[in-house]
Amino acid sequence: MNPFAQIKHHFRKPAQYLSLTEAELEALLTPQAIREEKIRILRDTGKEEELPAYRVQFNNARGPFKGGIRFHAKADRDEVSALAAAMAIKCAVVGIPFGGAKGGVTFDPKEYSDSEIERVARSYVQAFHPYLGVDIDIPAPDVYTNAQVMAWMLDEYEQIIGESSPGFITGKPLALGGSQGRDIATALGAVYVLEAYYASHNDDLVGKTVAIQGFGNAGAEIATLLHARGARIVAVSDSGGTISCEDGLDLDLLRQAKEHHLSVTAAKIQNTHTLEDSGVVLEQVCDVLIPAALDNVVTSHNVSNIAAKLILEVANNPIAPEADKILFERGVTVLPDVLVNAGGVTVSYFEWVQNRQQYYWTHEDVERQLKTVITAAFLSVKACGDSSLSFREKAYILGISRLHEAMKLRGRL
Ligand code: NAD
Repeated sequence: MNPFAQIKHHFRKPAQYLSLTEAELEALLTPQAIREEKIRILRDTGKEEELPAYRVQFNNARGPFKGGIRFHAKADRDEVSALAAAMAIKCAVVGIPFGGAKGGVTFDPKEYSDSEIERVARSYVQAFHPYLGVDIDIPAPDVYTNAQVMAWMLDEYEQIIGESSPGFITGKPLALGGSQGRDIATALGAVYVLEAYYASHNDDLVGKTVAIQGFGNAGAEIATLLHARGARIVAVSDSGGTISCEDGLDLDLLRQAKEHHLSVTAAKIQNTHTLEDSGVVLEQVCDVLIPAALDNVVTSHNVSNIAAKLILEVANNPIAPEADKILFERGVTVLPDVLVNAGGVTVSYFEWVQNRQQYYWTHEDVERQLKTVITAAFLSVKACGDSSLSFREKAYILGISRLHEAMKLRGRL
């Protein structure tokens, strides 16, 4: 199933539950604008190159469009559209006043120098600036874009419009108006969701065993946060393989391996098992499985081997729809991406608020407000519908109903 077909699938049952008409569903599933350009950049060799670039503005009924820009060889119109739709749902689920958007440039940034990547970032803004802006559409980082890329994009945008506009983009460096806590926001938001889930069962994280696929920005940070709360990280993988240890892995040693640009499997930890297979982590016996790397890693092929009781979706779209259904029938709880990884966009919202007020919060302010927003969102999702629905269906019911309400009030439905 292609990415946008997956989103359509996620909309269908919640739309039935909400008694939406086919025409309403169609309207909610139609992006407001799909913008495609060929951006031209100069390679270091002096050769000119054209790269396909996209900005999909999915829905702005609840506020300005909002969504990251990814630099990836597989970024295309369909994937960017699906991610834009998921952003609209995500912002609605956590109740922040943004719509959904996403951007992408189709190329492999690993093959490009830093100065070439800077030229891609600036060309992207040159191509799309008429459609972007602090009250129009606010970009952010995504796969293979970071605070430095945001800084170049901000600089290009401000040169074009001739004035300061820090709220045009989020995920900026602190020195250019970024927010405290933005770097750990996704991981911290996911931890707050998990804590709220266990609290709703009069339980907590102490002693819980955790397996994590991916030890990048989100995966490494969530491992640290969970460990600090008394959980045991029993398996971790990256593109180089899987490392596991019943007694819990030493996170400092894992981090040291990554700092030396090695796989986690190179960490010298006593009593561990290592395997070249990076997918085997998904089959680890544990309380919580955290996919924090790639999409569609749990499919009909491996779902029967999933041994975790709960899956916390930090990555976008890690479970294929057919596997999702099987997990629900087996009683495995899946806490869905549109809730779990919404900490990133929530702190982006805080960054935008701070930029507009020119008043900056402390790290403690950010953490406190994030916990308030995410915990409230979890409770609202949990309260949606009845026990015949999965958490994903509940989250989509909440998100779609809020989008639907805003569309209806505006007379767009
Ligand atoms: P990242 O690039 O920093 O890390 C990705 C990790 O996945 C790396 O450790 C890489 O080695 C690992 N990986 C790659 N291929 C793998 C494989 N075949 N098996 C196991 N591991 C593999 O990315 P990130 O920012 O940590 O994002 C991870 C996921 O979380 C993505 O799906 C992203 O869309 C999602 N997400 C991230 C954020 C964020 O703020 N970082 C926000 C929302 C969603």
